[in-house]
Amino acid sequence: MKKYRLRYAPSPTGYLHIGNTRTALMDYLFAKHYNGDFIVRIEDTDTARNVEDAIESQFSNLNWLGIIADESIFNPGDSKYGKYIQSEKLDVYREHAQTLINNKFAYKCFCTSEELEKDYEAQVARGIVATKYSGKCANLDSETIAKLEAAQTEYSIRFKVPANGVWTINDLVRGQVTFEAKDLGDFVIIKSNGIATYNFAVVIDDHDMEITHVVRGEEHISNTPRQMMIFDAFNWAYPEFCHLTLIVDATGKKLSKRSGNALFFIEQYRNQGYLPEAMFNYIALLGWSPPGEQEILSKQELIDLFDERRFSKSPSTFDMVKMKWINSQYMKKLTDEEYLSFIKPFIDQTRFDLTNKPEQWINHVLLLFKKEVEFGMQINDHLDIFFNDIEVDQETRDQLAELENYQNLITIFKDKITNLTIWDVEAIKTVIKEAGAEADVKGKNLFMPIRIYASKSQHGPSLADVIFLLGKTTVLKNINSF
Ligand code: GLU
Repeated sequence: MKKYRLRYAPSPTGYLHIGNTRTALMDYLFAKHYNGDFIVRIEDTDTARNVEDAIESQFSNLNWLGIIADESIFNPGDSKYGKYIQSEKLDVYREHAQTLINNKFAYKCFCTSEELEKDYEAQVARGIVATKYSGKCANLDSETIAKLEAAQTEYSIRFKVPANGVWTINDLVRGQVTFEAKDLGDFVIIKSNGIATYNFAVVIDDHDMEITHVVRGEEHISNTPRQMMIFDAFNWAYPEFCHLTLIVDATGKKLSKRSGNALFFIEQYRNQGYLPEAMFNYIALLGWSPPGEQEILSKQELIDLFDERRFSKSPSTFDMVKMKWINSQYMKKLTDEEYLSFIKPFIDQTRFDLTNKPEQWINHVLLLFKKEVEFGMQINDHLDIFFNDIEVDQETRDQLAELENYQNLITIFKDKITNLTIWDVEAIKTVIKEAGAEADVKGKNLFMPIRIYASKSQHGPSLADVIFLLGKTTVLKNINSF
């Protein structure tokens, strides 16, 4: 069997986001499942749209996620595969375009953009929605061409769409999709600035790199017949095509920065404290599903289970709640040491002063929330009571008002705490128990008043731990503040 070779081909027009990560990840799983190669190729021919550090961001975030390229600009494969960035291949595209001109599959088009604009406007005025090139330069005689060239008239190179062809994509996701040539105008393959267009460069590259499967987003399906025509013109075999369905948000809109999806870029999740393994896992479930019920799956399990027949045919919804849940599952699996070194950088030190706090104390505080936090930044929602002199909020006051007869309990508790000589969690547990027995209260009527008086908050983790960590002075100060 031929070695599978799949590529993720980002244009450096922006940073790595959920949508293109899903494409990269499916290409990766597909390749790895069949012991094939995963290639990252940079498609930077749309020079006006290129963004300065987009390439860096793409690789840094792919590497962070564990989507590692076997071949890329940083580790190119055999030289027969060509360059891994299109701007270094412009000559190759021009040579190929010349071959197509020689074989009458393409021609030079001398129309100016003003002329084209006017023609398209006229078509619209006639009620044509899908405007296309008129074909004006398709049959210029050699004398005219020579004259125009002698005058150094700018030209682009257009591919001549065969008059009555029909192209059928056997798409791995959508099955057969048919396009008729009559709906497509002759399209530009080399722009007047000498740079190849996407539809042309992509075919040369997929051929040169011996790509076996093209897995990409469904927005490219309408480009596919044009690419197939070019494959045909060179008499090259097509790769398999696989167009992944859209990712939409909870409102059904395509997930994008523009549609107001605040967390769209991988970098943002990284900064929020998501784990790369969890993101890999969740994104693998967008538009693809494993057999069976199990949804928490490691990278290796996903590679093993991958099956190209299990791509979804309908859009997939990006579900933030599920993403968080999956992340929390991975956080729970961390060892205490791993959790501590992961979570510490997310502590907002402008709110919580870590200086002069013993390491052991900080670790104890943080570990209380290991089972609770869903992502790194969430740790900041829990730390106030340990670091700051907080105000008792209205909710807590209301809660207190609902409880009965706690004055006696608090007096007993305060007395016991004051006299406690061994300050550890076990001793504090005993104090709480004894205070409950003496005041004759239990359950919520025991724990809630003590929690509120000791920590000034009705929420928090294990009560004895909270009291222990606050320390006797602070606990007594809190009790006295009521
Ligand atoms: N450069 C294209 C994009 O970023 C990828 C197209 C393809 O995979 O063929 O959308």
